[in-house]
Amino acid sequence: MAGISRDADWRRRTDFRLKPEATESPEAGAMVDEARGSGHGARIPDPRTPSPESRVPSPDSEAIPLEFIRTAEGLKAIREALGDCTRCKLHGQGRKQIVFGVGNPAADIMFVGEAPGADEDSQGVPFVGRAGQLLTKMIEAMGLSRDEVYIANVLKCRPPNNRDPQPDEVESCEPFLFQQIATVQPKVVIALGAFAARTLLKTQDPISRLRGRIYDYRGAQLIPTFHPSFLLRSPGYKREAWEDLKKALGLLGRQPPSPPPAASRD
Ligand code: URA
Repeated sequence: MAGISRDADWRRRTDFRLKPEATESPEAGAMVDEARGSGHGARIPDPRTPSPESRVPSPDSEAIPLEFIRTAEGLKAIREALGDCTRCKLHGQGRKQIVFGVGNPAADIMFVGEAPGADEDSQGVPFVGRAGQLLTKMIEAMGLSRDEVYIANVLKCRPPNNRDPQPDEVESCEPFLFQQIATVQPKVVIALGAFAARTLLKTQDPISRLRGRIYDYRGAQLIPTFHPSFLLRSPGYKREAWEDLKKALGLLGRQPPSPPPAASRD
């Protein structure tokens, strides 16, 4: 059958099976809280209207202060700059809250999705709904945890009825993603789905043409892969997604964990 391997190991790796309840860890939650600016210390620059005092400069320069690189404080400063954002129309179209990003501020791998959905909008954390649970399985299949990677979206606010993001919304929001990338400095960016891949790579090529290759991107290497929502609808493509994830690990000199003994498989 198309997309289904006869090889048991292949099937197991592409199945991304996980505990039924994928929850955010307390550490990850703490990082989100920190990035949301519950603490103190960093000034609150607006990357759209930089002030001389800003410690996080305009995204046009993306010269993140050295002391902010790969730190929770750096992410917190960006989150504070974002504020209660009204830069695009999405703030008035039913968003409950801004969904900034979550994870390790010094992650080697950063996943970038499209925009928050209903669950993310409710919880304020990216990729926590069904697609998010599959993403968590994918991360765990790589031998990593959500706490070890960084996860963000191109847009920080939910578009109404999950419609596609519009160009003006991307234009307003992507400087903050670029600052997140410049702060975290991941070695590998994994673009989840056509929208993220096209937006980051500034191309209209279909995901089928974009994936399978590695791109130089903002000091990192970018791997486009299928969006977990697509994989939920079309599980036959999980095998190809797994190839992409293995490629990402390979760029870090890592391998996926060896399969557990048959008896321990669920
Ligand atoms: N889809 C996305 O692209 N991002 C999320 O955070 C959730 C679903």
